[in-house]
Amino acid sequence: MPVIIVENDESEWDDATGESYHFPKRYLQYLQPGTPVIYYKGKQRSNQYAHVRLDKNPYYFGVAEVGKITPDGNSSKGDHYCEILYYRSFEQAVPASNPVTRETLEVIPASRASNFWRDGVRPCSQEVFDRILEASGLIVLPQQVVPVETNDDRQGVADAYETIVEDGTGRKVYGTRYERNPRLRARALQVHGPVCKGCGFDFEKVYGAHGRGYIHVHHLNPIASTGGMLAVNPQHDMTVLCANCHSMIHRYPKKMLSLPELQAIIARQHPSLAFPP
Ligand SMILES: [Zn+2]
Ligand SMILES: [Zn+2]
Repeated sequence: MPVIIVENDESEWDDATGESYHFPKRYLQYLQPGTPVIYYKGKQRSNQYAHVRLDKNPYYFGVAEVGKITPDGNSSKGDHYCEILYYRSFEQAVPASNPVTRETLEVIPASRASNFWRDGVRPCSQEVFDRILEASGLIVLPQQVVPVETNDDRQGVADAYETIVEDGTGRKVYGTRYERNPRLRARALQVHGPVCKGCGFDFEKVYGAHGRGYIHVHHLNPIASTGGMLAVNPQHDMTVLCANCHSMIHRYPKKMLSLPELQAIIARQHPSLAFPP
């Protein structure tokens, strides 16, 4: 079950955001290796923290996964540390409650109405976890699943296939099923539209109804398999390219072009094509 972990501006706990989390023994039942977590920060209590906060009001600010758990050798009460893996901070704060309706993203059981927010570690349903992520603009891919780009026509059609990839240490990993997440593509299209960000090519304009909705989705930073959770922000981590621009950006596998590099080449060669105009 996913868990919300609290990290306040001032605390007696020895936390390092995105690296490790320090907690009392009673939360061992929730924090286990592999547990997905979302970071939460309570209300701002002192102005001195204003410059490091994203908002005065309580908010969520990152997603990660729990790694190894180790006892805190200096604690007589049985406190523990856990590693925080694959941390990804949100680009903007996700408010814990709607400022107008006061409705909270987390579900507060009636029995906990008076002290719910006091808990530093709060289990939440998958639904709540997804709701917070949705508001953050991130899509989290579960363990062992990484998006794989294809340059072929089936982008957006094929959701899964078998492949051979290298793991982090350069070994070949065979037979792993790598799934592409159709939500990633759908979201990338939603935020970036169907027009090539390299040259402005519009498939529908040239090919009519036959070309409508066709575009390649490109990951700006190639994603290596981490073996664990992977959070992707379609707006910031992805873009859309026509088939030609996509081939050019990947032409030399050792030196993938950045989007601005590709745009600069086109602007130099064909100022009339340059996109954005
Ligand atoms: Zn293009
Ligand atoms: Zn690509």
